[in-house]
Amino acid sequence: MSVLVFTENWDGKFKKLSFELVSYANEIAKKLNTSTTALSIGKVEDDELKKLGTYGAVKIISVENDKLKGLVNQAYTSIISQVVAKENATVVVFANNYMGKAVAPRLSVKLKAGLASGVSALPSSLEPFTIKKKVYSSKAFANIVVKTPVKILTLFQNAFGITESPANATIEKFSPELKDSDLKTEILEVSKHTGKLLLTDAEIVVSGGRGMRGPENWGPIEELASLLGAATACSRPVSDEGWRTHEEHTGQTGKIIAPNLYIACGISGAIQHLAGVSSSKCIVAINKDPDAPIFEAADYGIIGDALKVLPELIIAVKELKASA
Ligand SMILES: Cc1cc2nc3c(=O)[nH]c(=O)nc-3n(C[C@H](O)[C@H](O)[C@H](O)COP(=O)(O)OP(=O)(O)OC[C@H]3O[C@@H](n4cnc5c(N)ncnc54)[C@H](O)[C@@H]3O)c2cc1C
Repeated sequence: MSVLVFTENWDGKFKKLSFELVSYANEIAKKLNTSTTALSIGKVEDDELKKLGTYGAVKIISVENDKLKGLVNQAYTSIISQVVAKENATVVVFANNYMGKAVAPRLSVKLKAGLASGVSALPSSLEPFTIKKKVYSSKAFANIVVKTPVKILTLFQNAFGITESPANATIEKFSPELKDSDLKTEILEVSKHTGKLLLTDAEIVVSGGRGMRGPENWGPIEELASLLGAATACSRPVSDEGWRTHEEHTGQTGKIIAPNLYIACGISGAIQHLAGVSSSKCIVAINKDPDAPIFEAADYGIIGDALKVLPELIIAVKELKASA
């Protein structure tokens, strides 16, 4: 018996979320009196694989296969199902992101295993296995009972945090059987944004909405982000209108993030936007409308024109940094 974690890496380096997933899985493993196994797909050096042991993984299974240049859903599902059987895993943990949402439901069907998606806490009970998940765009919670022998969970990012629990991890290279039917899709090319902070990994995010009025006004957002070591984001209409790339769009249909600090500039705070950012530890909103819904979600609010407030904030941050 074990708890299996599906980890994700970016060019051979684990994403921060992978450490959170292992930390979370390890707590479940402790409750179940078992151990945590992490699965890594793609080329990752042993030194990097070993890092998963810091968060409690005692076994790290590494799968490398040239045919898996990108996410091939069927193949990933087949590999994970083989590892579930090999490791006798009873709980499988994914991130509640594009990857998790693409693969976890397929695995659920393949293994006839119950799936609780978007969970945000440890199980409140093991018998029956009961776990809290977010529903209605994070406006409410539901307690889900998973009755099947294998349970599949997708964890909301930053819902649990990262905790160190050093384990002497062993690395096992595994060559799964892949059939042609597992490789129906061939990834011809992958284009990646380089040199930028990964939005989903960022501790601070500065975000702009339609209140910024146009792409020509994004200079102060980028300057503030660069001063704070932050990533930039935007609301959906901003990316729909082509002011910013869809890579930055946060919300129900965009990226789900939970940084320590989220600065929302000229964003109304519609429910679909909040669905992607409401787990941020601290929300600061700048909006000229005192009745904008974003102020209900915000910890700090500045009522004013973002185009005037942002340059003042930039001066204040520069002064603060100079005096530090
Ligand atoms: C199925 C569905 C899915 C959706 N998914 C998403 C999603 O994932 N993410 C998302 O963001 N939206 C999503 N939306 C759209 C969402 O409903 C809102 O329309 C959108 O979030 C509004 O974006 P906004 O706040 O930037 O623009 P607006 O609604 O136009 O709000 C602009 C805000 O800026 C303020 N403002 C104007 N000028 C200034 C100024 N100079 N200084 C300061 N403040 C100013 C205004 O008071 C206003 O509050 C979705 C909608 C649907 C139906």
